Amino acid sequence: MTLDNSVTFSSFGLSEPVLAALERKGFSAPSSIQTIAIPRLLSDEGHVIVKARTGTGKTAAFGIPLVERITETGKKPRALILTPTRELAIQITREIRSLAGSPVPRICTVYGGASIRTQIKELRDGVEIVAGTPGRVMDLMERKVLDLSAIEWFILDEADEMLDMGFLDDVEKILSETNPGRRVALFSATMPEAILKIVRQHIGKTDILEDTAPADETPLTEQYFMVLRKEDKLEALRRIADSSDEFYGLVFCATKAGADEAARRLLDAGYAAEAIHGDLSQEARERTLRRFRSRLTTMLVATDVAARGIDIERLTHVINWDLPNDRETYVHRIGRTGRAGRKGMAVTFVIPSEMGRITHLSRSMERTLGSSIKRLGVPKVE
Ligand code: ADP
Ligand code: MG
Repeated sequence: MTLDNSVTFSSFGLSEPVLAALERKGFSAPSSIQTIAIPRLLSDEGHVIVKARTGTGKTAAFGIPLVERITETGKKPRALILTPTRELAIQITREIRSLAGSPVPRICTVYGGASIRTQIKELRDGVEIVAGTPGRVMDLMERKVLDLSAIEWFILDEADEMLDMGFLDDVEKILSETNPGRRVALFSATMPEAILKIVRQHIGKTDILEDTAPADETPLTEQYFMVLRKEDKLEALRRIADSSDEFYGLVFCATKAGADEAARRLLDAGYAAEAIHGDLSQEARERTLRRFRSRLTTMLVATDVAARGIDIERLTHVINWDLPNDRETYVHRIGRTGRAGRKGMAVTFVIPSEMGRITHLSRSMERTLGSSIKRLGVPKVE
């Protein structure tokens, strides 16, 4: 992340409790996109699309204005944050709570796969902010528990992901049922046509705030690929893990079964590995994440969907056990490491028949981010 050291958080006129919370979090200066977006969201002006790469601090870009502006308890929620996944909803809630540093605003996280009764009770008790996935939000609206008539802020986080995942209809429906006076803010790393279409059809005049900071000159993630046989992937990962001082990484697999198998083999080989994917219950996924966060496990073997938006600090490695299908997925995966000023390493395993694809991917990375993917020799098996 590029911090904008020419600007301070206090120059945004933030209140003492929020400034104190930022200090506790160790945010010394706003990131470049925060410098652009925070003053705009604190003002009363119109709708915005905030476009900035992964890891640039978009959550706090809307979280800070929300906690600054919502300081009193009320009867109806004033802000709705839609996210593509449950994990992300939980993570955003945590980040906003830490930014507020006080019990107000109250935030309720709503997502499927967890008890709706608990969520209903929380909503009935009263909350100022609701963060959740579209499906559960609609469910709660239909049950007349979630009243969006007083919503002032409508936040769509990871808007590109959300549309990718097929939430277009849900998002349109929720948008059309919120208080028409609300302000909409969309946060996205890329700007697919579907986003512009939503804006045209449901929102109207919207300014695009774009991160003007160039991609970091020395990319925070060093990218490598290794050409190997499928059966040598385990050994290659062992070599990588054993040769680094400290390995704390995400391992991406193409399928749930593949993730389970890789995790099992890694565990058998003596590594603290665990799999996370959509076949696990919500509770199991949260437990697995907690264990990884507290470093009881150090290798989290994940599918793309399960890993979406998960922000874990200080990852040393991202391993693409399976070559991702497209560039977007690749960028999302490697964006999990080398965040907030720390260097990380991404290694992609490539079987010989995938050589064409990795070359293509490397070229495309070079064009857009100025960083190619370098070939790494396969570590020798003794
Ligand atoms: P994005 O949504 O743009 O991908 P996140 O909001 O997940 O990025 O932020 C990435 C990481 O950077 C998080 O760990 C967050 O706490 C941290 N972060 C955000 N803003 C700052 C800041 N101003 N200074 C230091 N770290 C920050
Ligand atoms: Mg984000």
